[in-house]
Amino acid sequence: MAEMIYLDHAATTPTDPRIVEAMLPWFSEQFGNPSTLYSLGTQSREAVETARAGVAALIGAKPEEVYFTSGGTESDNWAVIGGAYANEKKGNHIITSAIEHHAVLEPCQFLEKHGFEVTTLPVDQYGIVDPDDVLKALTDRTILITTMHANNEIGTIEPIAEIGAIARERGIHFHTDTVQTVGRIPVDVTKLNCDSLAISAHKFYGPKGVGAMYLRKGARALPYMMGGGQEKNRRAGTHNVSGIVGLGKAAELAAAEMEDISARLTVLRDRLMSGIFEKIEDVKLNGHPTLRLPNNVNISVDGIEGESMILLFDMNSISVSSGSACTSGTLDPSHVLLALGMSHEQAHGSVRFTFGKSNTDDHVDRVLAAFPCIVDRLRAMSPLYAMQKGKVAV
Ligand SMILES: *Cc1c(COP(=O)(O)O)cnc(C)c1O
Repeated sequence: MAEMIYLDHAATTPTDPRIVEAMLPWFSEQFGNPSTLYSLGTQSREAVETARAGVAALIGAKPEEVYFTSGGTESDNWAVIGGAYANEKKGNHIITSAIEHHAVLEPCQFLEKHGFEVTTLPVDQYGIVDPDDVLKALTDRTILITTMHANNEIGTIEPIAEIGAIARERGIHFHTDTVQTVGRIPVDVTKLNCDSLAISAHKFYGPKGVGAMYLRKGARALPYMMGGGQEKNRRAGTHNVSGIVGLGKAAELAAAEMEDISARLTVLRDRLMSGIFEKIEDVKLNGHPTLRLPNNVNISVDGIEGESMILLFDMNSISVSSGSACTSGTLDPSHVLLALGMSHEQAHGSVRFTFGKSNTDDHVDRVLAAFPCIVDRLRAMSPLYAMQKGKVAV
């Protein structure tokens, strides 16, 4: 059987063997609870603090501004809900964008049901949030702005520093979901002007179920997990020591290797994009042509469904994703693609390739060999495509 080609690194990444190795002792002989006083515990505590320093260094933060969580979802929930409630005496207005991950959108909807007002900003055809729209949406009751650094579906990189500057000038809490960017492209909290950001280890070769939140010294977010006094009383629960060590190692490796990896992936990305446009007609790139993640290619293919393409790619041992990560089991197209102004049909016909460090030139060749056949086969069976091309009378 052909080698399996994994092209869904926006969904998750394989854990780097060096990270697995760094984690192993913390499952077995080094099992101490970091909150205890004897050496077994203090060793765990030191490992947690080393990881914290590693994560802080990767994002230009101070170690005491980094809090460990169970992942990107928890960090986003905590920042949005905790950030809103910590500032509720100042107002109740929140600004977000139409293309946020569900881990931000749903907490915003929750807050809307509990007395907060939410303005959801539109994006342009490339998925970019206009900082001028943020300015126009501000009211004297605005207490939280949350817009993502790069979108997980279309890869568009947002003008976060500019939006952050607007918030900072007015003392408004600015959260940004950096789950797709930390460990992939440079993220520096001082340049982004953010008060909080979300990190997930499994998106950059670390383990699943662990992440971090950066909370700027002086910024406020009510605790979201309550219990023991861990993480300076801000995030209770016995530390996931092995996971945190894995995240720390992922941060250390990213700091050393990310630049080379992203330069190499950019070449693969661009070769895949131009190959697709050369070989397949009636396709369109989703997201911004240049302001995009180095590893993301998202394509709309006229006349066919993303889900069918995924299945046929899978039969070719290629793992890809459709624009709509059909999470709910419903057939709603992706809210991100719809926000770009696409029709339901176009949004349904999208496919996402996201590269990671083990991908090669040969993998791009394999995709470019398989993709045109997949498209031809599905289009041949598609009444929609025939109709769009005017090949049958309607
Ligand atoms: C994956 C992802 C999340 C969720 O992170 P988890 O660690 O899987 O909970 C949040 N936001 C974005 C943009 C993501 O890509």
